[in-house]
Amino acid sequence: MTIEDNVSLGRLTTVGIGGPARYFARPQSVAELEDVLRWAAAEGLEVFTVGLGSNLLIADEGVAGLALRLEGELAAAGVEGERLVAGGGATNAVCLHRTRAAGLGGFEFACAIPGTVGGGVRMNAGAYGGDWSQILERALVVTAEGTSWRTPDELGLEYRRSSLEPGEVVARTEFRLVPKPPEDIKATVAELQARRKAAQPTNKRTFGSVFKNPEHELSAGRMLEACGLRGHRIGGAQISPRHANFIENAGEARAVDALALMAEARRRALDRFGVELEHEVRFFGELELPPAGETL
Ligand SMILES: Cc1cc2nc3c(=O)[nH]c(=O)nc-3n(C[C@H](O)[C@H](O)[C@H](O)COP(=O)(O)OP(=O)(O)OC[C@H]3O[C@@H](n4cnc5c(N)ncnc54)[C@H](O)[C@@H]3O)c2cc1C
Repeated sequence: MTIEDNVSLGRLTTVGIGGPARYFARPQSVAELEDVLRWAAAEGLEVFTVGLGSNLLIADEGVAGLALRLEGELAAAGVEGERLVAGGGATNAVCLHRTRAAGLGGFEFACAIPGTVGGGVRMNAGAYGGDWSQILERALVVTAEGTSWRTPDELGLEYRRSSLEPGEVVARTEFRLVPKPPEDIKATVAELQARRKAAQPTNKRTFGSVFKNPEHELSAGRMLEACGLRGHRIGGAQISPRHANFIENAGEARAVDALALMAEARRRALDRFGVELEHEVRFFGELELPPAGETL
């Protein structure tokens, strides 16, 4: 496996923002993944696993460590009996296609989530009442120290979080599904996609929900809308005019623009609702939000 130098990461994200990774590798098997993680540990490098980049904000300066993208058998997906068996780098779209063809239901909620199954484990991704923790049976986690299967409990899956650390990479997954006629799966997916299209920007460059929903009667989106943030722009980044919990790359946006918008959103939410919004999007590189209430 080749280790490449200075590979641009922005083009690997849905928002299209971010500088290069000092080192970049595309492991295709568990053995290659184990090797490259051991190499990174020996070199003292931080590891950044990139799935579909649909929940990432990467610093404009990039990252000093090793970025990984899972390919080959680590991105393949298939069905065995009533299980979906997928590499951590397999996309949700391919998994849904395989499960529908096999007449297995339970994965439909993921039709609106443009990621990989490994990114889904890391984030405990979910929508429309479903999430990874409800269907995942186990995940094979590879680290520089060793490889082991973990259950959802061992992965610490909670609302949009897990206990996985940066050097812990999901290489394989097994999901337990239930028989369902393909035409019913198709109808459910069509309905969920129509709901999504009606409520969120679907054809813009974004990184999905910016903030987690707080414990409050209002969702983060409704709160930011009430703060008058729809359409608010800093540099090339803009709060979506359609849904205030999305930031769009409205043209040449930089990570610092998005970060400044997030800081402003947190300041207004604290001012108006007394709520400290917590970001859902993951940061790679030197990016840090100021304390809630302060702007950048
Ligand atoms: C338009 C849009 C709509 C969205 N809607 C939803 C939604 O409804 N529900 C929802 O939950 N999310 C949603 N998201 C966010 C995002 O799609 C999910 O969080 C998704 O699961 C991220 O997967 P990914 O492969 O893109 O991960 P990335 O964004 O590439 O990475 C996210 C995190 O996962 C880690 N990671 C990635 N792959 C692995 C791996 N193999 N092993 C270990 N860690 C890994 C990364 O290091 C990073 O910390 C949306 C995003 C967009 C752009």
